Amino acid sequence: MAMVAEPLARTLPPPEAFPSPASRFGNGDGRGVTMLVGMAGRGSRVGRQAAGNWGFGVLIDKRITDKPEPSAMARFRPGTGQRFLLTVDTEEEFDWTKPFGLTEHRVDTIPRLRKFQQFCEGYGIVPVYLVDYPIASSPVAAEVLNEALAAGRAEVGIQLHPWVNPPHDEVINEYNSFAGNLPVELEREKLFTLRDRIIANFGQVPRIYRAGRYGTGPNTARLLREAGVAIDTSARARFDYSGTGGPNYRDLPLQPWWVGETGSLLELPLTTVYWGLLRKYGPWLYPAMWRAPRLRGLLARIGLLERIPLTPEGVTAAEALRALDVAVDDGLAVLVLSFHSPSLAPGFTPYVRTERDLDALYDWWRTVFDNLIGRGVRPTSVREIMESVELA
Ligand SMILES: [Zn+2]
Repeated sequence: MAMVAEPLARTLPPPEAFPSPASRFGNGDGRGVTMLVGMAGRGSRVGRQAAGNWGFGVLIDKRITDKPEPSAMARFRPGTGQRFLLTVDTEEEFDWTKPFGLTEHRVDTIPRLRKFQQFCEGYGIVPVYLVDYPIASSPVAAEVLNEALAAGRAEVGIQLHPWVNPPHDEVINEYNSFAGNLPVELEREKLFTLRDRIIANFGQVPRIYRAGRYGTGPNTARLLREAGVAIDTSARARFDYSGTGGPNYRDLPLQPWWVGETGSLLELPLTTVYWGLLRKYGPWLYPAMWRAPRLRGLLARIGLLERIPLTPEGVTAAEALRALDVAVDDGLAVLVLSFHSPSLAPGFTPYVRTERDLDALYDWWRTVFDNLIGRGVRPTSVREIMESVELA
C-alpha cells in the first residue's frame, strides 16, 4: 500500500482540475443543448501537466459514431511519423460463452501483467492498461502496476464494463452491457465511480477511455469530457455491433479525428484493415456477406478479401503482418493494437487455452513488434499523442 500512497498524494488533482460544464442552456425546443467548455488544466498544476492545452474545443451533442467531416481529422506535428499504441483491455476473467452476469468473475490473471509489462519494457513499449472496475478495485493490480505507472513505463485508462461496475440500477442483459445504452445519469455515475476508483488505486488520472464491448452511446462523448478524458478509443472501425444492440463503427475512418471541435475529444480508433485483391471493395463487400461467414472464409483463404484487426486474438502472426503492410502503406498516423488481459493465462479466453497458446501469444507480439520497429514505426503513449497532436 505504501506504493499507492506516495504517487496518490502527488497526482490526485483538486476537483477543479477536471473539466466541468461551463455553461448549459436549453435551445428552446425542450431537447436541450449541453455545451461543454472544458476546463481541464485550469487552476491546477497537475491538470496542466497532464492535459496541456486540452479541453478548450467545444463539443455539442456529438456522437462517437458520427462520421467526421474531413476538417475534423486530427493532425500531428511535422516529424511525428507513424506510431503504434499498445492497449490492453485489463479485466476480470469470465465465461465468454455465458450470458452476462450469470457467472462469477475472478481476477486471478492480474499477476500475469507483471511478466507482460517487463516484456513490453524490453521493447521500450509503454502499454496502456484500460482497466475496469474489478481491476481498479484490486490491491494486487496496484502492486503489480504502480511502479511502472509512476515511472511512465505504463499508462492507465478507463474501460467501462457496466455489468460489474456500480451503481447497479439496470437489468443485466446484453443491451445494457453497452454502457452507452444506459440512461445518461447511470452511464455518468458508473463512469465517475470507475474513474475515481482508478485514481485512488493507481495514483494516476486516466486520460483515455474504451467502452467495454465498444459500447458508446449518444451521451458518451460529453460524459468523457466531463470526466477529464482526452482520448476515446472505443471506435472499432470496420465493425458493426448494431445486430446485438451496440454501435455501428463500420464506415468510420482508421485515422484519428476530433469528435467535436479541435481540442475537444480525440477519437483514436482501433486498427482493422481489409486485405486482399478486393480490399478496395471491402467497405461494401464485406458487410454484404455478413450472413455468409463461409463465403467470407473462402475469400480470405484464396487471398481475395480478409478483415484483419490488429490483435493476437483470433488473428495469426502471418495475417497480422499482412495487415501491417496495409496499415503502414495507407499512412496511418497511429496503429492501435489491442487484446484482453485474461489471455495472459491459459483457460480464460477462447484464444488462449493452453500453455502453448500462451507461448504463441508472446511470439505473436515479438513478430509484430519486430516488424513495426523494423519499419520505423515507433511505439507511442497517450501522453505523447496528447503532446504531438496539433491543437490549432
Ligand atoms: Zn472488456
